[in-house]
Amino acid sequence: MNKYLVAIMEGDGIGPEISKVAVDVLETLNELFDLGISLQNVEGGDGALKNFGKALPPYTVEVLKNCHACLKAPVGESAADVIVKLRQIFDLYANVRPSRVFPSVRALKPNIDLVIVRENTEDVYKGVELDLGDAVVALRPITKKACERIAEYAFNLAKTRAKRKVTAVHKANVLRKSDGLFLETCRRVAKRYQDINFDDMLVDAAAMSLIRDPERFDVIVTTNLYGDILSDEASQVVGGLGLAPSANIGENFAIFEPVHGSAPDIAGKGIANPLGMVLSVSMMLDWFFTRFSDQNSKSASEVLVSAVYSILKKGVKTPDLGGNYTTNQVGEELKRELIRLSKPM
Ligand code: ATP
Repeated sequence: MNKYLVAIMEGDGIGPEISKVAVDVLETLNELFDLGISLQNVEGGDGALKNFGKALPPYTVEVLKNCHACLKAPVGESAADVIVKLRQIFDLYANVRPSRVFPSVRALKPNIDLVIVRENTEDVYKGVELDLGDAVVALRPITKKACERIAEYAFNLAKTRAKRKVTAVHKANVLRKSDGLFLETCRRVAKRYQDINFDDMLVDAAAMSLIRDPERFDVIVTTNLYGDILSDEASQVVGGLGLAPSANIGENFAIFEPVHGSAPDIAGKGIANPLGMVLSVSMMLDWFFTRFSDQNSKSASEVLVSAVYSILKKGVKTPDLGGNYTTNQVGEELKRELIRLSKPM
C-alpha cells in the first residue's frame, strides 16, 4: 500500500551523486520495512534555472503540495531562490540540525550529542533590505508567534531526549527589542515545561562554548541567522559537514537535506560523502513516526542510524573523513549492512 509520496530533488554539484545513494538506501528500507513510500522526482536549482528559466519552477511547488515530504540534495548558486523560498511557501518554521559523535570520526570531545533548533521563517532571511543611497538597511523581523512556535518545538524535542535540556541562544543585551522578545518568549514557554532544564546564553559565548565545552549542550533554540552559523560550527566540532543532516519542519510538510552545499570543487569526482543526505533520510523516517505514529518508519530510521555507525566503525569512509572509499562504495556497504541488521536473529 502506498502511504507516503516523497519528492526527490537531486540538486546541483555533488547533489546527483549523493542523491543516488540516499534514494537507493530509501528504496532498500522501503522493501525491508514495507514502508509504503513512493518517489517522485522534482526539479530545482541551477539545472532548473537553465532548463526552465526558474530555479524553483511553479510546477515543482505544485507537485510538492501533494507530497508528504521532500528529500532534497544541495543546490548551487540559486540556493537562496530554492530552499529559502520553500521554507516561506510551506511555512517550514523549524530547522532542526543534530550534531553527534560518530565512530572513527574525529570529534573535539567524545560525548557530543546536541541539536540546534533554528527559527526558519524570519529574521534577516525575510530578505528585506532597503537602499538609502549611501547606506543600506537590512530589516530583521522577529514575531511573538514565531518565537513561541520555535520554543514549543524545542521543548517538545527536549522531552524525547535523555538530557532534557534547552538553551536559548540570543544577543538580547544588544538587540534588546528583537532578541529581547525571543528570550522573553523562551522564558515564558520554559515555565510550561518544568521537567526540562532551561538556560540561556549570548550567541558569542555559545560560539565559544561549542568549541570549549560542547558536551554541555542538548537542545539549542535560536533565531535564524545565529542558527545558520552555529550549526555549521557544530558540524565541524563532530567531524565535518559531510555527516551533517537537517530537517525543515512545518505542520503538514517537511523537507530533509544535508547541511552542506553543492561542493562544486569535488563534483563529478565520485568522492562526496553521502552520509549527510543518508542521515537526512533517517530524520525523514523519524518524522513519519512523529507525524503519523508510524512505528515501522521509526524502526527503519533506527536501523539506518545503526548501519551508519557500523560502516564507520569498519572504516568505510570517504576522503573528507580520512578514508579512501568512493561515494558509491559507501552506498553499497551501507545497503549490505541494512540487509544484515534487518534480518531476524
Ligand atoms: P555552496 O556554494 O553550494 O554552499 P560551497 O563549496 O561554498 O558550496 P559547501 O558545499 O558546503 O560550500 O562545501 C564546503 C567545503 O566542504 C568544500 O570544500 C566541499 O568540498 C566540502 N564538502 C561539502 N560537502 C561535502 C560532502 N558531502 N563530502 C565531502 N566534502 C564536502
